[in-house]
Amino acid sequence: MQERIYLDHASTTPVHPRVLEAMYPYLTQVYGNPSSVHSYGREARQAMEKARDRVAAFIDADPQELIFASGGTEADNMAIIGGAMALRERGRHIITSSIEHHAVLHACEHLERSGFEVTYLPADETGMISVDELKRAVREDTVLVSIMYGNNEVGTIQPIEEMGHFLRERGIVFHTDAVQAAGVLPLSVKQLPVDMMSISAHKINGPKGVGALYLGRKVPFAPHLHGGSQERKRRAGTENLAGIIGFAEATVIAGEEMAERLDKYRRMRQAMLSRWDDSGIAYVVNGHPDKHLPHILNVSFPGVQTETMLMNLDLAGVAAASGSACTSGSLELSHVLTAMCLEDARAQSAIRFSFGITNTVEEAERAAQKAADIVRRLKR
Ligand SMILES: *Cc1c(COP(=O)(O)O)cnc(C)c1O
Repeated sequence: MQERIYLDHASTTPVHPRVLEAMYPYLTQVYGNPSSVHSYGREARQAMEKARDRVAAFIDADPQELIFASGGTEADNMAIIGGAMALRERGRHIITSSIEHHAVLHACEHLERSGFEVTYLPADETGMISVDELKRAVREDTVLVSIMYGNNEVGTIQPIEEMGHFLRERGIVFHTDAVQAAGVLPLSVKQLPVDMMSISAHKINGPKGVGALYLGRKVPFAPHLHGGSQERKRRAGTENLAGIIGFAEATVIAGEEMAERLDKYRRMRQAMLSRWDDSGIAYVVNGHPDKHLPHILNVSFPGVQTETMLMNLDLAGVAAASGSACTSGSLELSHVLTAMCLEDARAQSAIRFSFGITNTVEEAERAAQKAADIVRRLKR
Protein backbone atom coordinates (compact mmCIF):
# COMPACT_ATOMS: atom_id res chain seq x y z
CA MET A 1 0.00 0.00 0.00
CA GLN A 2 1.27 3.48 -0.75
CA GLU A 3 2.31 5.79 2.03
CA ARG A 4 -0.53 7.91 3.38
CA ILE A 5 -0.13 11.36 4.87
CA TYR A 6 -2.88 12.72 7.10
CA LEU A 7 -3.06 16.52 6.96
CA ASP A 8 -6.63 16.99 8.17
CA HIS A 9 -6.17 17.42 11.91
CA ALA A 10 -8.60 20.34 12.06
CA SER A 11 -11.31 17.75 11.29
CA THR A 12 -10.14 15.29 13.90
CA THR A 13 -6.98 13.81 15.38
CA PRO A 14 -5.84 10.31 16.36
CA VAL A 15 -6.07 9.39 20.04
CA HIS A 16 -2.70 9.69 21.77
CA PRO A 17 -1.46 6.33 23.14
CA ARG A 18 -1.23 7.82 26.64
CA VAL A 19 -4.86 8.92 26.35
CA LEU A 20 -6.01 5.44 25.42
CA GLU A 21 -3.98 3.97 28.25
CA ALA A 22 -5.52 6.41 30.72
CA MET A 23 -9.04 5.59 29.51
CA TYR A 24 -8.82 1.81 29.50
CA PRO A 25 -9.34 1.16 33.25
CA TYR A 26 -12.42 3.41 33.17
CA LEU A 27 -14.09 1.15 30.62
CA THR A 28 -13.15 -2.09 32.34
CA GLN A 29 -12.57 -1.79 36.10
CA VAL A 30 -13.81 1.57 37.28
CA TYR A 31 -17.19 1.41 35.60
CA GLY A 32 -19.31 2.82 38.41
CA ASN A 33 -21.80 5.61 37.83
CA PRO A 34 -20.31 8.81 39.30
CA SER A 35 -23.72 9.57 40.85
CA SER A 36 -23.91 6.29 42.76
CA VAL A 37 -23.14 6.43 46.47
CA HIS A 38 -21.45 3.04 46.79
CA SER A 39 -17.71 2.56 46.48
CA TYR A 40 -17.88 1.94 42.71
CA GLY A 41 -19.63 5.24 42.24
CA ARG A 42 -17.36 7.10 44.61
CA GLU A 43 -14.29 5.82 42.81
CA ALA A 44 -15.71 6.97 39.48
CA ARG A 45 -16.63 10.38 40.87
CA GLN A 46 -13.21 10.87 42.37
CA ALA A 47 -11.54 10.13 39.04
CA MET A 48 -13.95 12.41 37.22
CA GLU A 49 -13.31 15.32 39.58
CA LYS A 50 -9.58 14.86 39.22
CA ALA A 51 -10.06 14.98 35.44
CA ARG A 52 -12.15 18.13 35.85
CA ASP A 53 -9.32 19.76 37.78
CA ARG A 54 -6.92 18.95 34.97
CA VAL A 55 -9.12 20.19 32.14
CA ALA A 56 -9.91 23.33 34.16
CA ALA A 57 -6.19 23.94 34.71
CA PHE A 58 -5.67 23.69 30.94
CA ILE A 59 -7.74 26.84 30.42
CA ASP A 60 -7.00 28.38 33.83
CA ALA A 61 -10.60 27.99 35.03
CA ASP A 62 -12.02 26.95 38.38
CA PRO A 63 -13.22 23.33 38.22
CA GLN A 64 -16.77 24.33 39.22
CA GLU A 65 -16.93 26.52 36.11
CA LEU A 66 -16.47 23.58 33.76
CA ILE A 67 -19.37 21.64 32.25
CA PHE A 68 -18.52 18.42 30.47
CA ALA A 69 -20.50 17.89 27.28
CA SER A 70 -20.56 15.62 24.24
CA GLY A 71 -18.13 17.80 22.27
CA GLY A 72 -17.56 21.20 20.77
CA THR A 73 -20.94 21.23 19.05
CA GLU A 74 -22.84 20.71 22.27
CA ALA A 75 -20.66 23.21 24.15
CA ASP A 76 -21.39 25.83 21.45
CA ASN A 77 -25.12 25.05 21.54
CA MET A 78 -25.18 25.25 25.33
CA ALA A 79 -23.43 28.61 25.25
CA ILE A 80 -25.60 30.18 22.55
CA ILE A 81 -29.00 28.70 23.34
CA GLY A 82 -28.47 28.29 27.08
CA GLY A 83 -27.14 31.83 27.31
CA ALA A 84 -29.82 33.40 25.13
CA MET A 85 -32.67 31.63 26.91
CA ALA A 86 -31.44 32.81 30.30
CA LEU A 87 -31.02 36.38 29.03
CA ARG A 88 -34.13 36.78 26.91
CA GLU A 89 -35.97 39.01 29.36
CA ARG A 90 -33.06 41.44 29.19
CA GLY A 91 -32.92 41.59 25.40
CA ARG A 92 -33.13 39.50 22.26
CA HIS A 93 -30.26 40.67 20.12
CA ILE A 94 -27.23 38.45 19.54
CA ILE A 95 -24.04 39.18 17.64
CA THR A 96 -21.84 36.57 16.01
CA SER A 97 -19.78 36.42 12.82
CA SER A 98 -20.39 34.92 9.42
CA ILE A 99 -17.26 32.75 9.68
CA GLU A 100 -18.23 30.78 12.80
CA HIS A 101 -18.45 27.00 12.89
CA HIS A 102 -21.89 25.67 11.97
CA ALA A 103 -22.38 24.66 15.61
CA VAL A 104 -22.59 28.39 16.38
CA LEU A 105 -24.22 29.58 13.15
CA HIS A 106 -27.01 27.02 13.13
CA ALA A 107 -27.66 27.51 16.85
CA CYS A 108 -28.09 31.23 16.10
CA GLU A 109 -30.40 30.50 13.17
CA HIS A 110 -32.45 28.32 15.49
CA LEU A 111 -32.78 31.27 17.87
CA GLU A 112 -33.84 33.54 15.00
CA ARG A 113 -36.80 31.23 14.49
CA SER A 114 -37.74 31.72 18.14
CA GLY A 115 -37.85 35.49 18.27
CA PHE A 116 -34.21 36.53 18.55
CA GLU A 117 -32.45 38.89 16.19
CA VAL A 118 -28.92 37.99 15.12
CA THR A 119 -26.28 40.22 13.54
CA TYR A 120 -23.65 38.32 11.55
CA LEU A 121 -20.46 40.36 11.41
CA PRO A 122 -18.51 40.14 8.16
CA ALA A 123 -14.85 39.19 7.91
CA ASP A 124 -12.24 40.92 5.78
CA GLU A 125 -10.15 39.24 3.09
CA THR A 126 -7.81 37.79 5.73
CA GLY A 127 -10.66 36.28 7.74
CA MET A 128 -10.42 38.95 10.44
CA ILE A 129 -13.47 40.32 12.22
CA SER A 130 -13.26 44.02 13.03
CA VAL A 131 -13.54 45.25 16.61
CA ASP A 132 -15.03 48.51 15.31
CA GLU A 133 -17.73 46.66 13.42
CA LEU A 134 -18.56 44.80 16.61
CA LYS A 135 -18.77 48.08 18.53
CA ARG A 136 -21.09 49.51 15.89
CA ALA A 137 -23.33 46.44 15.94
CA VAL A 138 -23.94 46.54 19.70
CA ARG A 139 -27.42 47.79 20.66
CA GLU A 140 -29.39 48.45 23.83
CA ASP A 141 -30.88 44.97 23.64
CA THR A 142 -27.69 43.07 22.79
CA VAL A 143 -27.29 40.33 25.39
CA LEU A 144 -24.87 37.83 23.90
CA VAL A 145 -21.87 37.86 21.56
CA SER A 146 -20.14 34.77 20.18
CA ILE A 147 -16.89 35.13 18.24
CA MET A 148 -14.52 32.24 17.61
CA TYR A 149 -10.98 32.34 18.91
CA GLY A 150 -9.30 30.87 15.84
CA ASN A 151 -11.03 29.96 12.61
CA ASN A 152 -11.12 26.28 11.64
CA GLU A 153 -10.91 26.82 7.87
CA VAL A 154 -8.35 29.56 7.35
CA GLY A 155 -6.88 29.75 10.87
CA THR A 156 -7.29 33.49 11.45
CA ILE A 157 -6.99 34.42 15.15
CA GLN A 158 -9.57 36.99 16.23
CA PRO A 159 -9.03 39.99 18.56
CA ILE A 160 -10.91 38.28 21.39
CA GLU A 161 -9.21 40.23 24.16
CA GLU A 162 -10.08 43.64 22.75
CA MET A 163 -13.64 42.57 21.99
CA GLY A 164 -14.01 41.08 25.46
CA HIS A 165 -12.90 44.22 27.28
CA PHE A 166 -15.38 46.30 25.35
CA LEU A 167 -18.24 43.86 25.97
CA ARG A 168 -17.43 43.41 29.65
CA GLU A 169 -17.74 47.16 30.23
CA ARG A 170 -21.23 46.94 28.82
CA GLY A 171 -22.22 43.82 30.70
CA ILE A 172 -22.76 41.80 27.52
CA VAL A 173 -22.13 38.06 27.83
CA PHE A 174 -19.25 36.94 25.60
CA HIS A 175 -18.69 33.39 24.32
CA THR A 176 -15.75 32.18 22.30
CA ASP A 177 -15.39 28.89 20.42
CA ALA A 178 -11.79 27.96 21.22
CA VAL A 179 -11.99 24.43 19.79
CA GLN A 180 -9.22 25.04 17.25
CA ALA A 181 -7.12 27.34 19.43
CA ALA A 182 -6.93 24.82 22.27
CA GLY A 183 -3.72 22.83 22.21
CA VAL A 184 -1.83 25.31 20.06
CA LEU A 185 -2.32 28.55 22.00
CA PRO A 186 -2.17 28.99 25.77
CA LEU A 187 -5.67 29.78 27.02
CA SER A 188 -6.54 31.52 30.28
CA VAL A 189 -10.12 32.42 31.08
CA LYS A 190 -8.79 34.40 34.05
CA GLN A 191 -6.83 36.68 31.75
CA LEU A 192 -9.19 36.71 28.76
CA PRO A 193 -12.36 38.73 29.27
CA VAL A 194 -14.69 35.91 28.18
CA ASP A 195 -17.70 34.46 30.00
CA MET A 196 -18.00 31.19 28.12
CA MET A 197 -15.53 29.11 26.13
CA SER A 198 -15.96 25.86 24.17
CA ILE A 199 -13.29 23.19 23.79
CA SER A 200 -13.36 19.67 22.34
CA ALA A 201 -11.26 16.58 23.12
CA HIS A 202 -10.97 15.01 19.66
CA LYS A 203 -9.25 18.06 18.18
CA ILE A 204 -6.38 17.67 20.67
CA ASN A 205 -5.75 13.90 20.44
CA GLY A 206 -8.45 12.99 22.92
CA PRO A 207 -11.46 10.76 22.18
CA LYS A 208 -14.45 11.81 20.07
CA GLY A 209 -17.72 12.64 21.79
CA VAL A 210 -16.46 14.70 24.72
CA GLY A 211 -15.82 18.39 25.22
CA ALA A 212 -16.41 21.12 27.74
CA LEU A 213 -17.97 24.50 28.18
CA TYR A 214 -16.34 26.98 30.52
CA LEU A 215 -19.20 28.90 32.13
CA GLY A 216 -18.21 31.80 34.38
CA ARG A 217 -19.72 31.61 37.84
CA LYS A 218 -22.04 34.60 37.44
CA VAL A 219 -23.12 34.01 33.86
CA PRO A 220 -26.87 33.43 33.41
CA PHE A 221 -27.49 30.01 31.94
CA ALA A 222 -30.51 27.85 31.10
CA PRO A 223 -29.78 24.12 30.76
CA HIS A 224 -31.09 22.33 27.69
CA LEU A 225 -30.77 18.73 28.81
CA HIS A 226 -33.21 17.88 31.56
CA GLY A 227 -32.97 14.83 33.78
CA GLY A 228 -30.58 14.03 36.59
CA SER A 229 -28.65 16.64 38.52
CA GLN A 230 -25.26 15.94 36.94
CA GLU A 231 -22.83 18.79 36.24
CA ARG A 232 -24.41 20.92 39.00
CA LYS A 233 -27.77 20.66 37.25
CA ARG A 234 -26.43 22.36 34.16
CA ARG A 235 -26.23 19.25 31.95
CA ALA A 236 -28.22 16.13 32.80
CA GLY A 237 -27.12 12.63 31.85
CA THR A 238 -24.63 10.04 33.10
CA GLU A 239 -21.19 11.38 32.38
CA ASN A 240 -18.91 9.94 29.69
CA LEU A 241 -16.39 8.91 32.33
CA ALA A 242 -13.75 7.23 30.15
CA GLY A 243 -14.04 10.05 27.62
CA ILE A 244 -13.59 12.67 30.32
CA ILE A 245 -10.52 10.85 31.68
CA GLY A 246 -9.08 10.71 28.16
CA PHE A 247 -9.89 14.38 27.57
CA ALA A 248 -8.02 15.32 30.75
CA GLU A 249 -4.98 13.27 29.75
CA ALA A 250 -5.01 14.94 26.30
CA THR A 251 -4.99 18.41 27.89
CA VAL A 252 -2.05 17.48 30.10
CA ILE A 253 -0.04 16.17 27.13
CA ALA A 254 -0.95 19.21 25.05
CA GLY A 255 0.29 21.47 27.84
CA GLU A 256 3.58 19.59 28.10
CA GLU A 257 4.22 19.52 24.37
CA MET A 258 2.76 22.81 23.17
CA ALA A 259 6.05 24.61 22.48
CA GLU A 260 7.47 21.62 20.65
CA ARG A 261 4.32 21.22 18.54
CA LEU A 262 4.27 24.88 17.58
CA ASP A 263 7.84 24.75 16.45
CA LYS A 264 7.15 21.71 14.28
CA TYR A 265 3.99 23.16 12.75
CA ARG A 266 5.85 26.34 11.84
CA ARG A 267 8.52 24.28 10.12
CA MET A 268 5.91 22.17 8.34
CA ARG A 269 4.19 25.27 7.03
CA GLN A 270 7.47 26.77 5.89
CA ALA A 271 8.50 23.51 4.25
CA MET A 272 5.30 23.40 2.17
CA LEU A 273 5.52 27.04 1.11
CA SER A 274 9.20 26.65 0.15
CA ARG A 275 8.44 23.55 -1.88
CA TRP A 276 5.76 25.41 -3.83
CA ASP A 277 8.02 28.42 -4.33
CA ASP A 278 10.76 26.17 -5.68
CA SER A 279 8.38 24.32 -7.98
CA GLY A 280 7.17 27.58 -9.52
CA ILE A 281 3.46 26.73 -9.35
CA ALA A 282 0.93 29.49 -8.75
CA TYR A 283 -0.51 29.50 -5.24
CA VAL A 284 -1.88 31.99 -2.73
CA VAL A 285 -2.25 31.56 1.03
CA ASN A 286 -5.69 32.27 2.50
CA GLY A 287 -6.10 33.71 5.98
CA HIS A 288 -4.10 36.25 7.94
CA PRO A 289 -0.34 36.46 7.22
CA ASP A 290 0.68 36.58 10.91
CA LYS A 291 -2.36 36.15 13.11
CA HIS A 292 -3.11 32.56 12.27
CA LEU A 293 -3.30 29.24 14.09
CA PRO A 294 0.01 27.43 13.55
CA HIS A 295 -1.51 24.11 12.49
CA ILE A 296 -3.77 25.39 9.69
CA LEU A 297 -2.53 26.22 6.21
CA ASN A 298 -5.24 27.16 3.74
CA VAL A 299 -4.00 27.71 0.21
CA SER A 300 -5.51 28.21 -3.24
CA PHE A 301 -4.07 26.87 -6.46
CA PRO A 302 -5.90 29.12 -8.93
CA GLY A 303 -7.21 27.22 -11.92
CA VAL A 304 -7.50 23.91 -10.09
CA GLN A 305 -10.92 23.24 -8.58
CA THR A 306 -10.98 22.28 -4.91
CA GLU A 307 -12.82 19.00 -5.45
CA THR A 308 -10.50 17.93 -8.26
CA MET A 309 -7.47 18.74 -6.17
CA LEU A 310 -8.78 16.91 -3.09
CA MET A 311 -9.58 13.82 -5.15
CA ASN A 312 -6.14 13.79 -6.73
CA LEU A 313 -4.44 14.38 -3.39
CA ASP A 314 -6.42 11.49 -1.94
CA LEU A 315 -5.33 9.23 -4.81
CA ALA A 316 -1.76 10.26 -4.05
CA GLY A 317 -2.30 9.34 -0.38
CA VAL A 318 -2.63 12.86 1.00
CA ALA A 319 -5.68 13.65 3.14
CA ALA A 320 -6.57 17.35 3.09
CA ALA A 321 -9.89 19.20 3.22
CA SER A 322 -11.86 21.92 1.56
CA GLY A 323 -12.77 23.59 4.82
CA SER A 324 -14.98 22.23 7.53
CA ALA A 325 -15.72 18.52 7.46
CA CYS A 326 -19.39 19.45 7.32
CA THR A 327 -19.11 21.26 4.00
CA SER A 328 -16.73 18.85 2.33
CA GLY A 329 -18.58 16.23 0.35
CA SER A 330 -20.82 18.88 -1.08
CA LEU A 331 -19.89 21.16 -3.93
CA GLU A 332 -21.10 24.18 -2.06
CA LEU A 333 -18.56 26.93 -1.55
CA SER A 334 -17.35 27.23 2.04
CA HIS A 335 -19.31 29.86 4.00
CA VAL A 336 -16.04 31.14 5.43
CA LEU A 337 -14.39 31.79 2.07
CA THR A 338 -17.64 33.27 0.80
CA ALA A 339 -17.75 35.64 3.78
CA MET A 340 -14.16 36.67 3.11
CA CYS A 341 -15.25 37.81 -0.37
CA LEU A 342 -12.34 36.14 -2.14
CA GLU A 343 -12.36 36.19 -5.93
CA ASP A 344 -14.12 33.15 -7.39
CA ALA A 345 -10.95 31.61 -8.82
CA ARG A 346 -9.37 31.77 -5.37
CA ALA A 347 -12.36 30.61 -3.36
CA GLN A 348 -13.07 27.72 -5.72
CA SER A 349 -9.55 26.33 -5.45
CA ALA A 350 -8.94 26.55 -1.70
CA ILE A 351 -7.43 23.58 0.13
CA ARG A 352 -6.89 23.26 3.86
CA PHE A 353 -3.88 21.36 5.16
CA SER A 354 -3.89 20.95 8.95
CA PHE A 355 -1.03 19.54 10.97
CA GLY A 356 -0.92 17.23 13.97
CA ILE A 357 1.42 15.62 16.45
CA THR A 358 2.20 12.50 14.43
CA ASN A 359 3.22 14.46 11.31
CA THR A 360 6.83 15.10 10.37
CA VAL A 361 8.37 17.98 8.42
CA GLU A 362 9.42 15.43 5.78
CA GLU A 363 5.78 14.42 5.36
CA ALA A 364 4.86 18.06 4.81
CA GLU A 365 7.55 18.30 2.15
CA ARG A 366 6.41 15.15 0.39
CA ALA A 367 2.77 16.23 0.51
CA ALA A 368 3.65 19.65 -0.90
CA GLN A 369 5.62 18.01 -3.70
CA LYS A 370 2.68 15.77 -4.54
CA ALA A 371 0.38 18.79 -4.57
CA ALA A 372 2.76 20.65 -6.89
CA ASP A 373 2.97 17.64 -9.23
CA ILE A 374 -0.83 17.42 -9.38
CA VAL A 375 -1.23 21.13 -10.08
CA ARG A 376 1.30 20.93 -12.90
CA ARG A 377 -0.32 17.81 -14.37
CA LEU A 378 -3.85 19.22 -14.22
CA LYS A 379 -2.82 22.48 -15.82
CA ARG A 380 -1.09 20.81 -18.76
C1 LIG B 1 -14.64 20.72 15.33
C2 LIG B 1 -15.14 22.06 15.73
C3 LIG B 1 -16.34 22.17 16.46
C4 LIG B 1 -17.21 20.99 16.78
O1 LIG B 1 -16.65 20.15 17.75
P1 LIG B 1 -17.15 18.63 17.86
O2 LIG B 1 -16.45 18.13 19.09
O3 LIG B 1 -16.68 17.94 16.61
O4 LIG B 1 -18.62 18.65 17.99
C5 LIG B 1 -16.75 23.44 16.83
N1 LIG B 1 -16.03 24.52 16.53
C6 LIG B 1 -14.87 24.45 15.85
C7 LIG B 1 -14.11 25.69 15.55
C8 LIG B 1 -14.39 23.22 15.42
O5 LIG B 1 -13.26 23.15 14.72
